[in-house]
Amino acid sequence: MANSSAAIGIYIHIPFCLHKCEYCDFYSLPITDAEVLENYTRSIIRELEHRAESIKNPITTVFLGGGTPSLLKPQQVERILAAVFAGYKISGELEISLETNPATVNLQNIKDLKSVGVNRLSIGVQSFNDNELKALGRMHGGLEARMTLRDVVRAGFNNYNIDLIYGLPNQTLASWQDTLNSAIEFNPQHISAYLLQLDDSTPMAQKVKTGTISLLDDEAEASLYYTALEFLAEQGFHHYEISNFSRPGYECRHNLLYWQAREYLGIGCGAVSYINGQRHLNQAGVNKYIDNCRTGRPLGIEILETMTPRQMAADAIILGLRLSEGIKFKEFKDRFGFDIMGEHRDVITNCQDKGLLQMDKESFFLTKKAYFLSNQVFNQFIV
Ligand code: SF4
Repeated sequence: MANSSAAIGIYIHIPFCLHKCEYCDFYSLPITDAEVLENYTRSIIRELEHRAESIKNPITTVFLGGGTPSLLKPQQVERILAAVFAGYKISGELEISLETNPATVNLQNIKDLKSVGVNRLSIGVQSFNDNELKALGRMHGGLEARMTLRDVVRAGFNNYNIDLIYGLPNQTLASWQDTLNSAIEFNPQHISAYLLQLDDSTPMAQKVKTGTISLLDDEAEASLYYTALEFLAEQGFHHYEISNFSRPGYECRHNLLYWQAREYLGIGCGAVSYINGQRHLNQAGVNKYIDNCRTGRPLGIEILETMTPRQMAADAIILGLRLSEGIKFKEFKDRFGFDIMGEHRDVITNCQDKGLLQMDKESFFLTKKAYFLSNQVFNQFIV
Protein backbone atom coordinates (compact mmCIF):
# COMPACT_ATOMS: atom_id res chain seq x y z
CA MET A 1 0.00 0.00 0.00
CA ALA A 2 1.24 3.50 -0.76
CA ASN A 3 2.46 5.11 2.46
CA SER A 4 0.84 8.51 2.44
CA SER A 5 -2.38 10.22 1.52
CA ALA A 6 -0.70 12.19 -1.29
CA ALA A 7 -2.36 11.98 -4.68
CA ILE A 8 -0.70 9.59 -7.12
CA GLY A 9 -0.78 9.01 -10.86
CA ILE A 10 -1.65 5.92 -12.88
CA TYR A 11 0.46 5.10 -15.93
CA ILE A 12 -1.07 2.58 -18.35
CA HIS A 13 1.30 1.03 -20.88
CA ILE A 14 -0.03 0.02 -24.30
CA PRO A 15 2.90 -1.91 -25.80
CA PHE A 16 1.80 -2.04 -29.44
CA CYS A 17 2.86 -0.02 -32.46
CA LEU A 18 2.12 -0.14 -36.17
CA HIS A 19 5.79 -0.96 -36.64
CA LYS A 20 9.01 -0.33 -34.78
CA CYS A 21 10.67 3.06 -35.33
CA GLU A 22 14.41 2.97 -36.08
CA TYR A 23 15.44 4.76 -32.88
CA CYS A 24 13.08 3.18 -30.38
CA ASP A 25 14.04 0.95 -27.48
CA PHE A 26 10.73 1.14 -25.56
CA TYR A 27 8.93 -2.08 -24.85
CA SER A 28 6.54 -2.30 -27.79
CA LEU A 29 5.58 -4.92 -30.34
CA PRO A 30 4.18 -4.63 -33.85
CA ILE A 31 0.42 -5.00 -33.56
CA THR A 32 -0.94 -8.12 -35.20
CA ASP A 33 -4.71 -7.99 -34.92
CA ALA A 34 -7.66 -6.32 -33.25
CA GLU A 35 -8.29 -9.36 -31.08
CA VAL A 36 -4.97 -8.91 -29.27
CA LEU A 37 -5.84 -5.28 -28.54
CA GLU A 38 -9.21 -6.30 -27.17
CA ASN A 39 -7.71 -9.02 -24.98
CA TYR A 40 -5.08 -6.60 -23.76
CA THR A 41 -7.77 -4.02 -22.93
CA ARG A 42 -9.62 -6.62 -20.85
CA SER A 43 -6.38 -7.50 -19.08
CA ILE A 44 -5.65 -3.86 -18.25
CA ILE A 45 -9.13 -3.57 -16.75
CA ARG A 46 -8.58 -6.74 -14.68
CA GLU A 47 -5.23 -5.48 -13.44
CA LEU A 48 -6.76 -2.12 -12.51
CA GLU A 49 -9.47 -3.95 -10.56
CA HIS A 50 -6.97 -6.25 -8.91
CA ARG A 51 -4.54 -3.55 -7.79
CA ALA A 52 -7.20 -1.10 -6.62
CA GLU A 53 -7.29 -2.86 -3.22
CA SER A 54 -3.72 -1.86 -2.42
CA ILE A 55 -4.05 1.80 -3.46
CA LYS A 56 -5.87 4.00 -0.98
CA ASN A 57 -4.34 7.27 -2.21
CA PRO A 58 -6.48 9.48 -4.43
CA ILE A 59 -5.62 9.49 -8.13
CA THR A 60 -4.84 12.81 -9.78
CA THR A 61 -3.64 11.81 -13.26
CA VAL A 62 -3.99 8.96 -15.73
CA PHE A 63 -1.48 8.68 -18.56
CA LEU A 64 -1.95 6.19 -21.38
CA GLY A 65 1.49 5.80 -22.92
CA GLY A 66 3.31 3.37 -25.11
CA GLY A 67 3.81 2.05 -27.54
CA THR A 68 0.90 3.64 -29.34
CA PRO A 69 -2.19 4.02 -27.15
CA SER A 70 -4.02 5.72 -30.03
CA LEU A 71 -4.28 2.23 -31.56
CA LEU A 72 -7.01 1.57 -28.98
CA LYS A 73 -10.58 2.28 -30.02
CA PRO A 74 -12.06 5.20 -28.07
CA GLN A 75 -14.61 2.77 -26.68
CA GLN A 76 -11.74 0.64 -25.25
CA VAL A 77 -10.22 3.77 -23.67
CA GLU A 78 -13.64 4.52 -22.20
CA ARG A 79 -13.81 1.06 -20.56
CA ILE A 80 -10.29 1.45 -19.13
CA LEU A 81 -11.19 4.86 -17.68
CA ALA A 82 -14.42 3.45 -16.26
CA ALA A 83 -12.32 0.89 -14.33
CA VAL A 84 -10.23 3.74 -12.89
CA PHE A 85 -13.32 5.67 -11.81
CA ALA A 86 -14.96 2.55 -10.37
CA GLY A 87 -12.00 1.28 -8.36
CA TYR A 88 -10.02 4.30 -7.19
CA LYS A 89 -10.59 7.42 -5.17
CA ILE A 90 -10.32 10.43 -7.48
CA SER A 91 -8.69 13.71 -6.46
CA GLY A 92 -10.31 16.72 -8.15
CA GLU A 93 -10.43 16.83 -11.91
CA LEU A 94 -8.30 14.08 -13.40
CA GLU A 95 -5.74 14.95 -16.03
CA ILE A 96 -6.22 12.15 -18.56
CA SER A 97 -3.46 12.07 -21.20
CA LEU A 98 -3.13 9.81 -24.20
CA GLU A 99 -0.12 9.52 -26.49
CA THR A 100 -1.13 9.78 -30.11
CA ASN A 101 0.70 8.79 -33.27
CA PRO A 102 -0.41 10.83 -36.30
CA ALA A 103 -0.46 7.65 -38.41
CA THR A 104 -3.26 6.16 -36.30
CA VAL A 105 -5.96 8.81 -35.86
CA ASN A 106 -8.54 10.83 -37.78
CA LEU A 107 -10.91 13.64 -36.87
CA GLN A 108 -13.68 11.29 -35.80
CA ASN A 109 -11.67 9.21 -33.36
CA ILE A 110 -9.96 12.29 -31.94
CA LYS A 111 -13.46 13.66 -31.26
CA ASP A 112 -14.46 10.33 -29.77
CA LEU A 113 -11.40 10.26 -27.50
CA LYS A 114 -12.45 13.66 -26.19
CA SER A 115 -15.99 12.53 -25.60
CA VAL A 116 -14.89 9.47 -23.57
CA GLY A 117 -12.93 11.72 -21.20
CA VAL A 118 -9.40 12.13 -22.56
CA ASN A 119 -8.57 15.77 -21.83
CA ARG A 120 -4.91 15.95 -22.88
CA LEU A 121 -3.25 14.57 -26.02
CA SER A 122 0.46 14.14 -26.50
CA ILE A 123 1.13 13.95 -30.23
CA GLY A 124 4.29 12.21 -31.40
CA VAL A 125 5.20 14.53 -34.27
CA GLN A 126 9.02 14.42 -33.73
CA SER A 127 9.71 16.55 -36.83
CA PHE A 128 7.79 18.14 -39.70
CA ASN A 129 10.61 17.37 -42.14
CA ASP A 130 9.91 14.31 -44.32
CA ASN A 131 13.57 13.31 -44.65
CA GLU A 132 14.08 13.46 -40.90
CA LEU A 133 10.89 11.48 -40.28
CA LYS A 134 12.04 8.89 -42.79
CA ALA A 135 15.40 8.56 -41.06
CA LEU A 136 13.57 7.99 -37.77
CA GLY A 137 11.42 5.30 -39.41
CA ARG A 138 8.19 7.08 -38.49
CA MET A 139 4.99 5.92 -40.15
CA HIS A 140 3.85 9.46 -40.95
CA GLY A 141 5.17 12.40 -42.92
CA GLY A 142 5.09 16.11 -42.10
CA LEU A 143 1.77 16.61 -43.89
CA GLU A 144 0.08 13.86 -41.90
CA ALA A 145 1.37 15.40 -38.67
CA ARG A 146 -0.10 18.74 -39.72
CA MET A 147 -3.44 17.15 -40.57
CA THR A 148 -3.56 15.44 -37.17
CA LEU A 149 -2.81 18.69 -35.37
CA ARG A 150 -5.50 20.46 -37.37
CA ASP A 151 -7.94 17.70 -36.37
CA VAL A 152 -6.91 17.97 -32.71
CA VAL A 153 -7.74 21.69 -32.82
CA ARG A 154 -11.00 21.06 -34.69
CA ALA A 155 -12.02 18.42 -32.18
CA GLY A 156 -11.82 21.12 -29.50
CA PHE A 157 -8.79 19.93 -27.50
CA ASN A 158 -7.34 22.86 -25.60
CA ASN A 159 -4.57 20.96 -23.84
CA TYR A 160 -2.18 19.12 -26.11
CA ASN A 161 1.51 18.51 -26.37
CA ILE A 162 3.66 18.27 -29.48
CA ASP A 163 6.58 15.90 -29.03
CA LEU A 164 9.71 16.85 -30.99
CA ILE A 165 13.18 15.31 -31.29
CA TYR A 166 16.36 17.21 -32.07
CA GLY A 167 19.88 16.03 -32.83
CA LEU A 168 18.76 14.02 -35.86
CA PRO A 169 21.26 12.96 -38.54
CA ASN A 170 21.75 15.83 -41.01
CA GLN A 171 19.46 18.10 -39.03
CA THR A 172 20.36 21.76 -39.50
CA LEU A 173 19.50 24.84 -37.51
CA ALA A 174 17.25 25.87 -40.40
CA SER A 175 15.32 22.57 -40.51
CA TRP A 176 14.94 22.60 -36.69
CA GLN A 177 13.70 26.18 -36.81
CA ASP A 178 11.20 25.15 -39.52
CA THR A 179 9.94 22.37 -37.26
CA LEU A 180 9.60 24.76 -34.31
CA ASN A 181 7.79 27.30 -36.52
CA SER A 182 5.40 24.62 -37.76
CA ALA A 183 4.66 23.45 -34.22
CA ILE A 184 3.87 27.00 -33.11
CA GLU A 185 1.39 27.48 -35.97
CA PHE A 186 -0.96 25.10 -34.19
CA ASN A 187 -0.79 27.06 -30.96
CA PRO A 188 -0.11 24.07 -28.69
CA GLN A 189 -0.17 24.51 -24.93
CA HIS A 190 2.86 22.28 -24.45
CA ILE A 191 5.98 21.27 -26.40
CA SER A 192 8.51 18.59 -25.48
CA ALA A 193 11.88 18.67 -27.23
CA TYR A 194 14.08 15.66 -26.51
CA LEU A 195 17.59 14.99 -27.72
CA LEU A 196 17.87 11.86 -29.87
CA GLN A 197 19.58 9.25 -27.73
CA LEU A 198 20.19 5.82 -29.15
CA ASP A 199 20.38 2.56 -27.32
CA ASP A 200 22.84 0.13 -28.94
CA SER A 201 20.01 -2.32 -29.61
CA THR A 202 18.24 -0.01 -32.08
CA PRO A 203 18.61 -0.23 -35.88
CA MET A 204 19.55 3.43 -35.98
CA ALA A 205 22.44 2.88 -33.55
CA GLN A 206 23.66 0.07 -35.79
CA LYS A 207 23.62 2.43 -38.78
CA VAL A 208 25.68 4.91 -36.81
CA LYS A 209 28.11 2.14 -35.89
CA THR A 210 28.56 1.06 -39.51
CA GLY A 211 28.91 4.66 -40.67
CA THR A 212 25.71 4.61 -42.79
CA ILE A 213 24.54 7.67 -40.89
CA SER A 214 26.27 9.99 -38.48
CA LEU A 215 24.99 11.95 -35.51
CA LEU A 216 25.66 15.60 -34.83
CA ASP A 217 28.48 16.59 -32.52
CA ASP A 218 27.80 17.94 -29.00
CA GLU A 219 28.23 21.53 -30.05
CA ALA A 220 25.69 21.25 -32.86
CA GLU A 221 23.22 19.48 -30.54
CA ALA A 222 23.63 22.17 -27.89
CA SER A 223 23.07 24.85 -30.49
CA LEU A 224 19.75 23.23 -31.53
CA TYR A 225 18.71 22.94 -27.89
CA TYR A 226 19.43 26.57 -27.02
CA THR A 227 17.73 27.72 -30.23
CA ALA A 228 14.56 25.99 -28.99
CA LEU A 229 14.93 27.54 -25.53
CA GLU A 230 15.21 31.05 -26.89
CA PHE A 231 12.55 30.69 -29.57
CA LEU A 232 9.96 29.10 -27.28
CA ALA A 233 10.59 31.72 -24.57
CA GLU A 234 9.96 34.44 -27.18
CA GLN A 235 6.71 32.66 -28.03
CA GLY A 236 5.55 32.86 -24.40
CA PHE A 237 6.35 29.31 -23.30
CA HIS A 238 7.50 28.59 -19.78
CA HIS A 239 10.59 26.37 -19.80
CA TYR A 240 9.60 24.38 -16.73
CA GLU A 241 11.69 21.24 -17.19
CA ILE A 242 14.94 20.57 -19.06
CA SER A 243 13.09 19.30 -22.16
CA ASN A 244 9.57 20.62 -21.57
CA PHE A 245 7.86 23.92 -22.30
CA SER A 246 4.30 24.98 -21.59
CA ARG A 247 1.89 27.86 -21.58
CA PRO A 248 1.43 28.95 -17.96
CA GLY A 249 -0.81 26.46 -16.16
CA TYR A 250 -0.44 23.73 -18.81
CA GLU A 251 2.52 21.85 -17.35
CA CYS A 252 2.00 18.09 -17.65
CA ARG A 253 0.69 17.19 -14.19
CA HIS A 254 1.46 13.50 -14.65
CA ASN A 255 5.10 14.05 -15.58
CA LEU A 256 5.43 16.53 -12.72
CA LEU A 257 4.68 13.62 -10.39
CA TYR A 258 7.77 11.84 -11.76
CA TRP A 259 9.99 14.89 -11.47
CA GLN A 260 8.76 15.57 -7.95
CA ALA A 261 9.61 11.94 -7.07
CA ARG A 262 5.98 11.25 -6.15
CA GLU A 263 4.35 7.84 -6.26
CA TYR A 264 2.71 6.29 -9.31
CA LEU A 265 1.12 3.02 -10.23
CA GLY A 266 2.15 1.39 -13.53
CA ILE A 267 -0.39 -0.88 -15.20
CA GLY A 268 0.25 -3.19 -18.18
CA CYS A 269 3.25 -5.11 -19.54
CA GLY A 270 6.55 -3.37 -19.04
CA ALA A 271 5.03 -0.67 -16.79
CA VAL A 272 7.01 0.49 -13.76
CA SER A 273 5.42 1.56 -10.45
CA TYR A 274 6.98 3.60 -7.67
CA ILE A 275 5.22 2.96 -4.40
CA ASN A 276 6.55 3.04 -0.84
CA GLY A 277 10.14 3.59 -1.93
CA GLN A 278 10.08 0.54 -4.19
CA ARG A 279 10.23 0.39 -7.96
CA HIS A 280 8.31 -2.52 -9.46
CA LEU A 281 8.32 -3.79 -13.02
CA ASN A 282 5.33 -5.55 -14.50
CA GLN A 283 7.58 -7.94 -16.34
CA ALA A 284 5.46 -10.49 -18.19
CA GLY A 285 5.42 -10.46 -22.01
CA VAL A 286 2.07 -9.67 -23.64
CA ASN A 287 0.77 -13.25 -24.00
CA LYS A 288 1.78 -14.23 -20.49
CA TYR A 289 0.33 -11.00 -19.11
CA ILE A 290 -3.01 -11.57 -20.85
CA ASP A 291 -3.02 -15.15 -19.62
CA ASN A 292 -2.17 -14.21 -16.03
CA CYS A 293 -4.87 -11.55 -15.94
CA ARG A 294 -7.46 -13.94 -17.44
CA THR A 295 -6.75 -16.80 -15.07
CA GLY A 296 -6.09 -14.68 -11.97
CA ARG A 297 -2.50 -15.95 -11.64
CA PRO A 298 0.11 -13.64 -10.02
CA LEU A 299 1.11 -10.86 -12.41
CA GLY A 300 4.86 -11.42 -12.40
CA ILE A 301 5.75 -8.14 -10.74
CA GLU A 302 9.48 -7.83 -10.08
CA ILE A 303 10.95 -5.52 -7.44
CA LEU A 304 13.58 -3.50 -9.29
CA GLU A 305 14.80 -1.45 -6.39
CA THR A 306 14.06 -0.92 -2.70
CA MET A 307 15.32 2.49 -1.74
CA THR A 308 16.62 3.66 1.62
CA PRO A 309 15.34 7.05 2.85
CA ARG A 310 18.70 8.56 1.80
CA GLN A 311 18.37 7.10 -1.71
CA MET A 312 14.80 8.41 -1.95
CA ALA A 313 16.07 11.86 -1.02
CA ALA A 314 18.89 11.64 -3.61
CA ASP A 315 16.36 10.58 -6.22
CA ALA A 316 14.20 13.57 -5.35
CA ILE A 317 17.20 15.90 -5.80
CA ILE A 318 18.20 14.43 -9.18
CA LEU A 319 14.64 14.46 -10.51
CA GLY A 320 13.75 17.80 -8.92
CA LEU A 321 16.76 19.54 -10.45
CA ARG A 322 15.26 18.76 -13.85
CA LEU A 323 12.63 21.37 -13.03
CA SER A 324 13.56 24.98 -13.64
CA GLU A 325 12.28 25.91 -10.17
CA GLY A 326 14.76 23.41 -8.71
CA ILE A 327 14.68 22.22 -5.11
CA LYS A 328 13.13 24.29 -2.33
CA PHE A 329 15.18 23.99 0.89
CA LYS A 330 12.24 24.06 3.30
CA GLU A 331 10.02 21.70 1.31
CA PHE A 332 12.90 19.26 1.06
CA LYS A 333 13.60 19.36 4.79
CA ASP A 334 9.91 18.91 5.64
CA ARG A 335 9.72 15.90 3.36
CA PHE A 336 13.01 14.12 4.04
CA GLY A 337 13.88 15.33 7.53
CA PHE A 338 17.34 16.74 6.88
CA ASP A 339 18.88 19.92 5.67
CA ILE A 340 20.12 19.63 2.10
CA MET A 341 22.92 22.16 2.61
CA GLY A 342 24.09 20.29 5.70
CA GLU A 343 24.41 17.12 3.63
CA HIS A 344 25.49 18.37 0.20
CA ARG A 345 27.17 21.72 0.78
CA ASP A 346 30.45 20.70 -0.92
CA VAL A 347 28.79 19.38 -4.06
CA ILE A 348 26.48 22.36 -4.36
CA THR A 349 29.30 24.87 -3.82
CA ASN A 350 31.50 23.07 -6.30
CA CYS A 351 28.72 23.13 -8.95
CA GLN A 352 28.10 26.81 -8.21
CA ASP A 353 31.79 27.53 -8.78
CA LYS A 354 31.59 25.79 -12.15
CA GLY A 355 28.52 27.83 -13.08
CA LEU A 356 26.22 24.80 -13.10
CA LEU A 357 24.03 25.56 -10.08
CA GLN A 358 22.51 28.76 -8.81
CA MET A 359 20.96 29.52 -5.47
CA ASP A 360 18.59 32.02 -3.90
CA LYS A 361 17.17 32.28 -0.38
CA GLU A 362 14.58 29.55 -0.93
CA SER A 363 16.00 27.12 -3.45
CA PHE A 364 18.79 25.94 -5.72
CA PHE A 365 18.46 25.14 -9.39
CA LEU A 366 20.36 24.43 -12.61
CA THR A 367 21.81 27.36 -14.53
CA LYS A 368 20.92 27.74 -18.19
CA LYS A 369 24.40 26.49 -19.09
CA ALA A 370 23.81 23.35 -17.01
CA TYR A 371 20.59 22.34 -18.78
CA PHE A 372 22.65 20.69 -21.48
CA LEU A 373 25.22 19.31 -19.03
CA SER A 374 22.80 18.19 -16.35
CA ASN A 375 24.24 14.68 -15.93
CA GLN A 376 27.47 16.24 -14.68
CA VAL A 377 25.45 17.69 -11.81
CA PHE A 378 23.13 14.72 -11.21
CA ASN A 379 25.98 12.23 -10.95
CA GLN A 380 27.31 14.01 -7.91
CA PHE A 381 24.14 13.44 -5.90
CA ILE A 382 23.94 9.67 -6.46
CA VAL A 383 24.32 7.74 -3.19
S1 SF4 B 1 5.67 4.85 -32.21
FE1 SF4 B 1 6.82 5.41 -30.35
S2 SF4 B 1 6.83 3.56 -29.05
FE2 SF4 B 1 6.21 2.93 -31.13
S3 SF4 B 1 8.08 2.25 -32.11
FE3 SF4 B 1 7.81 4.41 -32.64
S4 SF4 B 1 8.92 5.55 -31.05
FE4 SF4 B 1 8.66 3.45 -30.29
